[in-house]
Amino acid sequence: MNSRRDFLQKFSLGIGAAAFIAGAENVSAAAPKIADAPKADKQLRVALMGLGGYANIVARGMKECKTAKLVGLVTGTPSKIPEWKQKYGIEDKNIYNYENLQEIKNNPDIDLVYVITPNSLHHKHVLQVAAAGKHVICEKPVADNAKQAREMIAACEKAGVKFYIGYRLHFEPHTRELIRMREAGEFGKIMHVNNYAGFTIGDPTQWRLKKNLAGGGAMMDVGVYSTNGARYCTGEEPVWVTAQESKTDPVKFKDVDETVTFQLGFPSGIIANCGCTYNFNHAERLHVMGQKGWAEMNPAFGYGPIRGNTHKGAIDAPDVNHQAYQMDGIADAILNGKPDPNVTGHEGLKDMLVIDAVYESLRKNGAKVFIKQ
Ligand code: NAD
Repeated sequence: MNSRRDFLQKFSLGIGAAAFIAGAENVSAAAPKIADAPKADKQLRVALMGLGGYANIVARGMKECKTAKLVGLVTGTPSKIPEWKQKYGIEDKNIYNYENLQEIKNNPDIDLVYVITPNSLHHKHVLQVAAAGKHVICEKPVADNAKQAREMIAACEKAGVKFYIGYRLHFEPHTRELIRMREAGEFGKIMHVNNYAGFTIGDPTQWRLKKNLAGGGAMMDVGVYSTNGARYCTGEEPVWVTAQESKTDPVKFKDVDETVTFQLGFPSGIIANCGCTYNFNHAERLHVMGQKGWAEMNPAFGYGPIRGNTHKGAIDAPDVNHQAYQMDGIADAILNGKPDPNVTGHEGLKDMLVIDAVYESLRKNGAKVFIKQ
């Protein structure tokens, strides 16, 4: 096993499982670089909150951005600051901690805060950013449950700030092409979706295995990809859910779910078979079948390269830096009045409604749970 894979499995980057990250390294070699492209006249000035594994990946990706720029930090670990300042040229006046975060409202040089903290802190942190009058991107899962997600949407609306979720795949060209083909009717009537997302989680002491910080296990983390994938493959919102958990390691997964299989029933009558795990690798596949055609993405959810085949042949799309594309896409919507990408807080809420129903079904031994939108 290579050392990078060891690192990931030990410290875990969620969907950035080993296979995904190995791909991410390829992406930086293959992706069209936009680093040298002229920067936009007006740039969205971003502060990252929570300087852990994924924030490092976002910061590196943002070096390629044209319209978004990393200018600030929120961290509870002062020892991280010198390295971040040196790597990204962050000024002291744009560095905050969790105690003085509210002062960010008086800083005219920060437009948006990107919350990249453990899942169960998203609700509190998004409410704080909204209260400071800054736009916000929140990592997935949006919150611990749909009630919290609704409160976050309401707080951002009240504060007049934009609220997005870090759904990077909605900017990824292979995924975009799959969605375009489905919307154009190239698959015909969609009849079935089958997908899986997951990886072997490492360090048993990490926050992802603690319910009070993670909100749940595989379902809360990688289950978001299965859920969101089933929704963008059908273009419908599920109306019912059934779910089953297999727990093969009750010691490691005593607090959270390990491997979850779930079925989503859609208004058209079709059923998606979905799954997610924290206990095996090489699980990131998305298969959509229609009456006229099909698509299969594998790998489907990592940092790239994403690969897709369809009834018409391989999806021919560029391999890009997901984080750079996401940040420039959101910056374009905020600064240049482009239509909001399909990654708003409402999109996060729709996935959360499904996740709530999955957990309810698990509590009720797999009973069918109906979703109220
Ligand atoms: P991480 O453990 O590497 O980083 C979390 C950061 O939050 C750390 O810097 C930590 O110091 C900070 N933090 C603040 N308060 C904390 C507290 N009370 N307890 C523990 N840590 C605290 O985790 P990560 O992998 O960077 O994940 C962070 C978020 O990003 C998660 O919500 C995860 O789902 C999401 N994520 C998204 C993607 C993606 O592809 N979109 C990939 C990985 C992670």
